[in-house]
Amino acid sequence: WRLGAADAPGHRNKSDAPCVKERTLIAVKPDGVQRRLVGQIIHRFERRGFKLVGLKLLQVSKDLLSQHYCQLTKKPFYPDLVDYMTSGPVVAMVWEGPNIVQTSRMMVGHTNPSEAQTGTIRADFCFHVSRNVVHASDSTEGAQREIRLWFDGQDLLSWDCIDKSVTSE
Ligand code: ADP
Repeated sequence: WRLGAADAPGHRNKSDAPCVKERTLIAVKPDGVQRRLVGQIIHRFERRGFKLVGLKLLQVSKDLLSQHYCQLTKKPFYPDLVDYMTSGPVVAMVWEGPNIVQTSRMMVGHTNPSEAQTGTIRADFCFHVSRNVVHASDSTEGAQREIRLWFDGQDLLSWDCIDKSVTSE
């Protein structure tokens, strides 16, 4: 799902290049839920002005994980990753906004929290790559695939903002 520039004439960034409105999958992993970090993570996306269009708490299945992490199933850490991701509930969300895929990756930070920049979620909330609190899609194509995998289309809501001057719309 991508809204092209021609469909969004009012959305311009500083260089006057068109902004592309996108959706991405953000998931608070089991350690984030256990540590009561859900609200703080949602808050970061809200205060940036992004729009929440889907949200659910779920126990992830091994089947969903093998599809979600299809490029990692041969990695030596994959069995531990499955144990980690199935150790408790996950909060899966779809967020929407201009260039949100790239921006949310910057907000989340490096995969390894010890290499993440201060101020990113992973730098601020964790220290080990195997417990890195949050997932964010890493490309627009990946986001579309992951959103389809985690959500039924009918569970995503398009809604209008009453005061667009204070948001990213
Ligand atoms: P990202 O989540 O930043 O997109 P990857 O797709 O490479 O990173 O990896 C998916 C997840 O697998 C990571 O977020 C992390 O939970 C886990 N992971 C990645 N590399 C390692 C590793 N070397 N050891 C343990 N877990 C890892």
